[in-house]
Amino acid sequence: MTNHIDCSSVYENPMHWPPYTYRDYPLVTSESLQAFVDFLGTENTSSHRKELQPWIPFCTQKCNFCYFPTELMSKNEMNTYLEAMKKSLGMYSKTKYVQTSEFSEIYLAGGTPSIMSTEQTIDLLKFCEENFNISKDREIKVTGCTHDFDLKKLKALSEYGVDQLDLGIQTFDDKIRKLVNLRDNAKTAEEMIKTAHKFGLRVSIDLMYNLPGQDLKVWSSDVQKALDLNVESADCYALDVYPKTKIAEQLESGALPARGDQDDETEMYLQAAQTFNAAGYEKTCHNRFSRIKQDFQEPCMEVVGSGAGFFMGTVGKFSYVDISPAKDYITAVANGKFPISNLFVSSDADEMAKMMMRLYIRLPVNKSEFKEQFGKLPEEAFEQTITKLEKKGLIEIDEQEIRLTKLGDIWRYNVCWEFSPKKADTQ
Ligand code: SF4
Repeated sequence: MTNHIDCSSVYENPMHWPPYTYRDYPLVTSESLQAFVDFLGTENTSSHRKELQPWIPFCTQKCNFCYFPTELMSKNEMNTYLEAMKKSLGMYSKTKYVQTSEFSEIYLAGGTPSIMSTEQTIDLLKFCEENFNISKDREIKVTGCTHDFDLKKLKALSEYGVDQLDLGIQTFDDKIRKLVNLRDNAKTAEEMIKTAHKFGLRVSIDLMYNLPGQDLKVWSSDVQKALDLNVESADCYALDVYPKTKIAEQLESGALPARGDQDDETEMYLQAAQTFNAAGYEKTCHNRFSRIKQDFQEPCMEVVGSGAGFFMGTVGKFSYVDISPAKDYITAVANGKFPISNLFVSSDADEMAKMMMRLYIRLPVNKSEFKEQFGKLPEEAFEQTITKLEKKGLIEIDEQEIRLTKLGDIWRYNVCWEFSPKKADTQ
């Protein structure tokens, strides 16, 4: 046993995601779409950091735990899709709101953007830089799978000015890689990380814990491997089994070995936190251990993007999801409309709850900033919730700010749900 925090009785149901995710957004209506279009006709006066996110929804094959709305590349045509996506991004770029926005980051997300050829990737990046106001010190990040990269692609991306690869590694254990349907083996993945480093690219990896057959020993060696490879950051996700995923069926039928219980999961998290911390990585974002200085600046509060199933859109009080699958998205774009399927407009109560949700990305909530925006202190807006969380030892408060405690860090998603007007059963 490596850690001594008694966290067994805090919540019965651990949450793995905060509220306000795309799954809850209502279907778009002609009125909500018109309000969105009207808003895009206004000037963006916010000084917060912004991200541009082209979205490639395709993957070579489906990982068995994946619940994202991705599609198989073999059933689609990349160039046709890219033309439609650029047309949609072009519609955003012509609005006043976007023309008065400066983007600090271009993030190629999905899906697996690394599935694009080198030429398609660079053409897309150029399109973004030519059609949007991108800050001079912008960062470019490309997400993907190690099996899509080769020497030529890594060299070209580095020469273009890509700063970082975000790689879905999940585990370095070959037996478990096979169980969750990852395509290449650990050795190939490791080699690709080393090659990316040789070209000066930063490497951020996703690791998953509490996978079937993965005990604390296997997880510890995954974390150690990340350190040995000197990755710049690691996003550590507990496996969340979603209904209708392949892994849910396999676990149900007994086709996969069992996974650990809640205590095992917490122990794995604490083990990773301790090891990364001892090696000089700090906790940031919702699941990240990082030594990248940019990871500790203000996160991008607005995300403009487009793509089939894209679900990260955040513009002012609007959050949006794009139509999927790709063939429907392409048709919608061809009709000259923003290809949106779901659109959420935050109320004032939602905006207050969202400011409290900074806790889950490990940022403190600044009390004067909260008061300036909403006319009252967080303790006045959420009196009972804050008293309860403080009593449970999950948050601490001083004159300036509210922040998570060490125990609260483990339960940060549940803590955020406590502030949501749509409070889930987080007890
Ligand atoms: S590569 Fe990523 S997006 Fe694609 S199926 Fe696997 S987990 Fe899902």
